[in-house]
Amino acid sequence: MTDVAKLPLMLTELRLPTIGRLWQTFGDQADREGWGAARFLAALCEHEIAERATRRIARHLAESGLPPGKTLETFDFTATPSLRKAHLMALASGDAWIEQGANVLIFGPSGTGKTHAAAAIGAGLIDNGYRVLFTRTTDLVQKLQAARRDLALPASMAKLDKFDCLLLDDLGYVRKDQAETGVLFELIAERYERRSLIITCNQAFSEWGQIFPDPAVTIAAIDRLVHHATILELNTESYRRRAAAGKRSSLG
Ligand code: ADP
Ligand code: MG
Repeated sequence: MTDVAKLPLMLTELRLPTIGRLWQTFGDQADREGWGAARFLAALCEHEIAERATRRIARHLAESGLPPGKTLETFDFTATPSLRKAHLMALASGDAWIEQGANVLIFGPSGTGKTHAAAAIGAGLIDNGYRVLFTRTTDLVQKLQAARRDLALPASMAKLDKFDCLLLDDLGYVRKDQAETGVLFELIAERYERRSLIITCNQAFSEWGQIFPDPAVTIAAIDRLVHHATILELNTESYRRRAAAGKRSSLG
């Protein structure tokens, strides 16, 4: 004889919290409206699956390190005419480019919205079920260098592999004289044609010689990054400066 009293325990053991919360209400409704057993069970499963997806997305957002509020909804496309909303929305949906491990490279002077645009694409990717990690490039390089010193570089790389897309903010702030930036090249080579990168940088490729240990590595890095890449150039005036100027003029 099935012990109905054990149902809450069994649902906990099976990790079905949504069904645990809903089965009584749904059961009453099923009794009232004469649902068959199959429909009752299907309705419960549907809700469990939907909430599981919502919880997964919330987890992915929490682990992403994305700056809050920098989304497509808060991005003003009239301020940045070189970006088309439809294009950014397409990138934010992921699909082909993420599946192919392609990249997005965002260039422009300081304050033009590179980080905001990158974060907005990242947030969209998370909504679409992908895993994303946003990090300042210098922070990540330091972590990878520490890992290399501890002979744990492969393990650290493997951890990063879980992310469909890594957002490396301000690649141009990495300096080869800070320490060996070879780890950055290794990361780029490791992900090449497998896992995507979104990179923001305020220096043109011609200045990347300051980032990588030697010219051959610089060329090899650029080659791999651009082979399958969408390049976005933000060459408007600084949004920060314009916002500040707007405030000043409205103060009279
Ligand atoms: P960058 O990374 O190029 O230095 P940010 O993305 O940090 O620039 O942008 C600077 C500030 O201006 C941020 O607060 C950002 O949210 C805002 N901003 C930049 N461009 C836009 C835009 N087109 N619409 C709305 N906010 C913007
Ligand atoms: Mg930035």
